[in-house]
Amino acid sequence: MANVIVIGGGIVGLSVAYYLAKENVEVTLVDADHTGQATTAAAGIICPWVSQRRNKKWYQLAKNSASFYPTLIDELKNQGISTTGYKQTGALVIRKEEKTLQKIYEMTQQRLVDAPEIGEVTRLNVAETKQRFPLLDEKYQSIYVSGAARVNGGKLRKSLLEACMNHGVKIITGEASLVKTANHANIKVNDTLIEADQIVLANGSWFSTIVESLGLNGLIRPQKAQIVSLKWKEDDTGDWPVIMPRGTHYIVPFEHGQIAAGTTHEDDVGWDTHVTPIGLQKIFSDLREVAPALLSSALVKVNVGFRPVAPDFLPVFGRLPGYERIYAANGLGSSGLTTGPFIGRELAKMILRKDGILDAKDYPIHSIIKSSE
Ligand SMILES: Cc1cc2nc3c(=O)[nH]c(=O)nc-3n(C[C@H](O)[C@H](O)[C@H](O)COP(=O)(O)OP(=O)(O)OC[C@H]3O[C@@H](n4cnc5c(N)ncnc54)[C@H](O)[C@@H]3O)c2cc1C
Repeated sequence: MANVIVIGGGIVGLSVAYYLAKENVEVTLVDADHTGQATTAAAGIICPWVSQRRNKKWYQLAKNSASFYPTLIDELKNQGISTTGYKQTGALVIRKEEKTLQKIYEMTQQRLVDAPEIGEVTRLNVAETKQRFPLLDEKYQSIYVSGAARVNGGKLRKSLLEACMNHGVKIITGEASLVKTANHANIKVNDTLIEADQIVLANGSWFSTIVESLGLNGLIRPQKAQIVSLKWKEDDTGDWPVIMPRGTHYIVPFEHGQIAAGTTHEDDVGWDTHVTPIGLQKIFSDLREVAPALLSSALVKVNVGFRPVAPDFLPVFGRLPGYERIYAANGLGSSGLTTGPFIGRELAKMILRKDGILDAKDYPIHSIIKSSE
């Protein structure tokens, strides 16, 4: 196959680039490394099976993505890349109300039939819950899901970048723009025009800007997220499970007392990358409710990132309408750390004209382009 240029070096772009390069495709990846890149800002949870979201296509994607992760991590390890930021530590879904917890428990048990990677699903009482995560407030029962994992987005991104370079991907730092031709486009980056046989747009929240020059009205919007990194005084946090309370709050423990807590979901604030008192207030008031002891830990840093959000919150991948040789993957929203590598591989397969696992028609790119009619 001829050369492919991938625009965007977040989890999606790096995954597409890696899976193409593995098949000996000549790949160039252009990344502007914008402040607010979602992947580097994120610390997150891989546990889609407890989600009460009703969209079946999303669940299908997320389930396949979660089961694919260990394969990717093993692949990276076999190349000598071991600091991936990924670890299967299990998750505690915590609730005060018995009824809601039972509902989630039954749903997860049913999902076990199709997804054995969920692992052990166990109901825990208050004392058992606190035993698994000693800093929790004493009012929560939980469901323990052993197959859940946590991942540090920044570390995973570095690992994928290393894997790309090991496979000969050429990396260019700079902001790319598209220069329209008859039924394709060239790429302009750092004042140089580059021709590409195939182009992949994997540029997250910045998608709508890049397709403007093709006369397209993109519908991806940035959703701002703030997340805090804390340092707990004890060191033995590396195997603690992630904590999933009701709503958007969560706690993700890492090694050596590092604990991430977040996140905000801020719509309609544009490209504001500031850490805001109101954002921190939301995170810390949620933390006070769930694990008040953590309020006495040290605040190490606050990350800000933009989740790329599609109109119906469903990720998409495939060919750009009207362009045979331009592809895109986007709209990964709040589950992109989970779905990014799998979507990247699915898109690489499509470009290589190989069968994927999902039907791309269920994740249509036209849903992130405003119709001209
Ligand atoms: C705080 C936070 C917590 C999260 N928690 C979770 C979680 O628990 N579980 C989960 O599954 N997901 C989580 N997510 C979501 C996940 O991180 C995102 O969905 C995912 O990282 C999006 O990846 P992406 O590659 O599409 O975009 P990005 O990571 O934003 O990458 C896009 C890249 O494209 C580059 N770019 C843009 N325009 C151009 C251009 N013109 N030329 C060159 N380069 C360009 C940008 O600079 C950037 O590097 C979280 C996100 C955040 C912000």
